[in-house]
Amino acid sequence: MDLKTPVGYIKGVGESRAKAFGRLGVFTAGDLLCFYPKRYEFRGDIKRIAQTRDGETCSAVIKIDSTPREGRGKSGIHYVKSSGTDGDDVLYLTFFNSRWIVPALSPGRLLRVYGRVAVTLYGHEMINPAVEPYSPDLKAVSPVYPATKSLTQKAMAKAVESVLALADEVPETFPEEVRKQFSLITKTLAIKQVHFPQNQKEADEAVRRLAFEELAVFQLALYKLKAGQSKKAAKTLSLKGAKSKLFFDSLPFELTNAQKNAVKEIFADLQKETPMTRLLQGDVGSGKTVLAAASAYLAAKNGFQTAFMAPTEILAAQHFATLSGMLSPHGIKSGILTGSLGAASKKKIKDDISNGEVDVIIGTNAVIQSDVEFSNLGLAITDEQHRFGVIQRASLITKGEGETSPHTLVMSATPIPRTLSLILYGDLDVSVLDELPPGRQNIKTYAIDGSDRKQINDLLESQLRRGRQVFVVCPLAEESEVVDALSAAEKYEAVIRDFPSYPASLLHGRMKGKDKNAIMAAFKSGETKILVSTTVVEVGVDVPNATVMVVENSERFGLSTLHQLRGRIGRGREESFCLLVYDKESKKSRERLEIMCRTQNGFEIAETDLKLRGPGEFFGEKQSGEISFKIANIADMALIKQTRALVDMIIDKGLLDENGYAELNSAAEELFVKSFKRNILN
Ligand code: ADP
Ligand code: MG
Repeated sequence: MDLKTPVGYIKGVGESRAKAFGRLGVFTAGDLLCFYPKRYEFRGDIKRIAQTRDGETCSAVIKIDSTPREGRGKSGIHYVKSSGTDGDDVLYLTFFNSRWIVPALSPGRLLRVYGRVAVTLYGHEMINPAVEPYSPDLKAVSPVYPATKSLTQKAMAKAVESVLALADEVPETFPEEVRKQFSLITKTLAIKQVHFPQNQKEADEAVRRLAFEELAVFQLALYKLKAGQSKKAAKTLSLKGAKSKLFFDSLPFELTNAQKNAVKEIFADLQKETPMTRLLQGDVGSGKTVLAAASAYLAAKNGFQTAFMAPTEILAAQHFATLSGMLSPHGIKSGILTGSLGAASKKKIKDDISNGEVDVIIGTNAVIQSDVEFSNLGLAITDEQHRFGVIQRASLITKGEGETSPHTLVMSATPIPRTLSLILYGDLDVSVLDELPPGRQNIKTYAIDGSDRKQINDLLESQLRRGRQVFVVCPLAEESEVVDALSAAEKYEAVIRDFPSYPASLLHGRMKGKDKNAIMAAFKSGETKILVSTTVVEVGVDVPNATVMVVENSERFGLSTLHQLRGRIGRGREESFCLLVYDKESKKSRERLEIMCRTQNGFEIAETDLKLRGPGEFFGEKQSGEISFKIANIADMALIKQTRALVDMIIDKGLLDENGYAELNSAAEELFVKSFKRNILN
């Protein structure tokens, strides 16, 4: 057996488990070794019952002192109740839907139970704890792997254990002096420890070592991306004869100073002989789209095509309307290409793209799918970067034929702390729009207890009566058994009941693109007055007549998401309101929401969000479409700085291709290729 052995050949892994592993991206023994636990249970942390605090998660060793009782609760759920003692105190155990546990609970058994302790009037209790027959050599730490239905934690741990010795064959990435300088354990040891640490310290060491590598490799990949770009030739654009003044004069407003500066920077890049790789960062509503249009204008006047990618169909449709409105008076043709187009229209637009009939192509990911051929692509623009990520940037770049490469402009409305932008956008030059166009409304933001429906409905009613429109955003698309969040569908019913005279519609992520577009169009045109949705409206949707944003269960959203949502309103001249409805049961929620009421500065909100929720969750919500790291925490500033130092050192010393770093280099390539496949081909 070696690292390349298919998982199916591992002892205890049959065909069906091999399939389940495959779904997790684990195909070989080597993949399995690099399938890391997402957290650990420190079951060796054994407490006396009397010492445990309410809400604490820990273990206790108890002797079962009663016969298990079975029954059904009010809601029909089956339960088993039992109890045990550590000699001094009693611990009550309750298991839901776990009939199979009964034999393990026969009186006199000595068990190690691990779970969350609840201290009530009746004493100490654990609900659904993990139960193991006690023996002195039970493992102190249990890995918890990313969950899947068809593989139990036990099966996963067992499979890993049986290939663990292969960790000796995994090549070391870092030379010894680097390991010394940054206090890193060897890769082999890290792999062993990450799966089966003896204690917290070993787990931390292992995670840090592997995360360090992941971040370093990633930054190196970014560097290579940029270096590769700057070696390529661009389609150099010229301002001469483009008469860009005509474009700016045709706008119904004057650019803000921030916009003017950004135009200068972008246009300077576009005239260079190497491709532009620029990030345009600006809070929602700061006016990024017009700059995209200006760039597309310049490209078209130089005879080049522009590809403009939006993260959703809705946004693509909106951008198409905006851009073609701004560009068609100047004889520039725009087209839209999205997944939901019919086969015939798709073919037509693709033909138009390849024979140069359209100058500006706006679309979703479909644009970058391999069967689209541009006749003369000069500029690639992606909107709302956090849905795409570095890999997509790379794939767009490869669209430029041969040795030349299109200019790329990336637009992001996600304010992120500086250190983070270094890693997320390390390959890009940055322009910032730190100023909103004049006359923007301050959005009145209130955190409201969800049981106070009257207050909420009164405000909605008064706004609707004035002809304004309302967004209502809910966290879930369908009623879920586990999470009792107010689902969008349910909320929609309530809205129809409460506001029978105002047309409302429902929008959620599981709808077809076509339906979504139709619903969105009806809301934009004012035909419908209330739009109930999940977060599909999060980015960039522009409906100036919408003055109210109601976010249900707002305590379930990250502050950054709430900030994005709030950015949907206050786009017109009217006074606007954001109502953050929270469930008063969740104690901390109000405190967090207060920040939203206090400020509208996206950077301030992002920093607070990061502080309050901690690194783990800050990006959790967004990370799916962005770069997903296996083990590195993207908000671990300290580690990012260290890996940055290493990468700078490698680059400064020109070591990139020398022996000592060859491994790191090829690891970078492999990571790149792998995520490329994962993100593009799926
Ligand atoms: P975002 O940066 O969030 O993408 P948009 O480009 O959608 O923002 O711009 C938001 C709104 O502001 C649009 O309706 C746009 O026409 C308008 N706008 C953009 N720039 C200016 C400006 N300089 N003055 C006034 N309105 C502007
Ligand atoms: Mg936008």
